[in-house]
Amino acid sequence: MLWRWVDVGMNMLFPQAPRCAACQGPLEREGVCLCLPCVNALPLIRGPVCTKCGQPLPDGCGGCEESWAFAGLRALGLYQGALQEMIHWVKYQGKRELGLALGELLAGPVREEELLRSCSVIAWVPLHPNRMARRGFDQGELLARGLARQLGRRLLPRSTLIRWRDTPSQTRLDRMERWQNVDGAFRVEYPQRVRGKAVLLVDDVLTTGATCHAAASALLAAGALRVGVCVVALSNPQGRGRKRAAEKLSPLWQAL
Ligand SMILES: [Zn+2]
Ligand SMILES: [Zn+2]
Repeated sequence: MLWRWVDVGMNMLFPQAPRCAACQGPLEREGVCLCLPCVNALPLIRGPVCTKCGQPLPDGCGGCEESWAFAGLRALGLYQGALQEMIHWVKYQGKRELGLALGELLAGPVREEELLRSCSVIAWVPLHPNRMARRGFDQGELLARGLARQLGRRLLPRSTLIRWRDTPSQTRLDRMERWQNVDGAFRVEYPQRVRGKAVLLVDDVLTTGATCHAAASALLAAGALRVGVCVVALSNPQGRGRKRAAEKLSPLWQAL
């Protein structure tokens, strides 16, 4: 008992140095949330990308066959390796600090793209309230919160963009089914919060883009000026060239 209080006292006198949100290892410097080895392990996207869909160039982009509701999109990396693992840790093991950390990293690609950088408010693709209640948190909100903190932009309240249809998970659906599944699944509860504003919409993984398209459509229908999207990871098994464009160390690390 005594030792526990000694411990508490020591922690108050000498607060513990912040640890890496992924591996709990020591951080090399202040103001970062992931250690260098963890950042180095991420399959980050760098170099030129399609402004509209975020896919690395010059290998072409499959996504732009669709006419997206959002004006532009950037992704931090590819949905594979360490990044895929980290997203799973956040979603299925409740590593909330890591969600915030990944959100902070999103500031890198956002700052590189004028369309996104100039957005004045931040929203996220929300879970349906039923799923949120089961999980206890919304990973999109964690990402958006981390990003808002890093950019110093306003985060729209949770009640703004609502997923009002409890759609089945997209993971087992094919391309066409994914589009039908989320069509009209979102609505904006307080249009005055988005009217005339450029909104930055945050999501974890982008596959077909159907979910982000549906959420962006709801924001535009409510009077948003335009919607830019940023996601943690692009997942598209058909996407050519994505693997090649991913490099281990990105200037994002320096940007933070
Ligand atoms: Zn680490
Ligand atoms: Zn494209």
